[in-house]
Amino acid sequence: MRTPLIAGNWKMNGSRELIEHFGRQVTSDALPGGVSAALMVPFPYLEAANKAFKAGPLVVGAQTLSDQPSGAFTGEVSGNMLAELGAQYVLVGHSERRALFHEDDTAVLARVRAALAAGLVPMLCLGETLEEREAERTEAVVLGQLEAVLDALEADQRQRLVIAYEPVWAIGTGRTASPEQAQAVHEVIRARLARYSAPLAEGMQLLYGGSMKASNAAELLAQPDIDGGLVGGASLKVDDFLAICQSAG
Ligand code: 13P
Repeated sequence: MRTPLIAGNWKMNGSRELIEHFGRQVTSDALPGGVSAALMVPFPYLEAANKAFKAGPLVVGAQTLSDQPSGAFTGEVSGNMLAELGAQYVLVGHSERRALFHEDDTAVLARVRAALAAGLVPMLCLGETLEEREAERTEAVVLGQLEAVLDALEADQRQRLVIAYEPVWAIGTGRTASPEQAQAVHEVIRARLARYSAPLAEGMQLLYGGSMKASNAAELLAQPDIDGGLVGGASLKVDDFLAICQSAG
């Protein structure tokens, strides 16, 4: 019912050459049927990615955007610019943006609105820190981040999102959430979506992120409420990325 989606997040990594390599390797034949794949690339590579992926199945995305449509905001990039360069997705609320760039729930909501206004699909990232998990605050934190955005949107806007649950303690640490831990949080997220509407809950793609790799993807993706992955480190190697896509088929 929900299309599996494997999204790579290159963060501040990669090169034009690697983009072109992915374009050559990630063909329709290399992906299992019915699995979607996307790559969130650094801004300077958007145009190259759009060109390199044009003939294949990979969809282009960006990693952040300004909350403003245009103006005197030196160094910022607007949603319309991303759309013009071929981006279809944009990450919003990634834990690195929240922690390192001080984006709070208000800033995240503003960016979700800006993405929607530009016709992009915001991939809203949620997740608790280790300290919050140990204090048994996982649900409160994740649902707080979710509601801060969804409460403020119209029903039709909510349906245009993708959600990624990325426990902060699992990002880049090699310490993956167990399938049971991840499923438990995904189930809670989907149950909360059902309070907005049953079709929203049923249709929402909920991705797991945090040290997902070829060796653990299959058991995570086999969970009933995990519809895909948001993959950092392992998305920089095309063989690993394709192996994860295979696990989603
Ligand atoms: P890793 O897969 O490197 O842990 O990163 C996850 C992530 O932050 C994806 O957005």
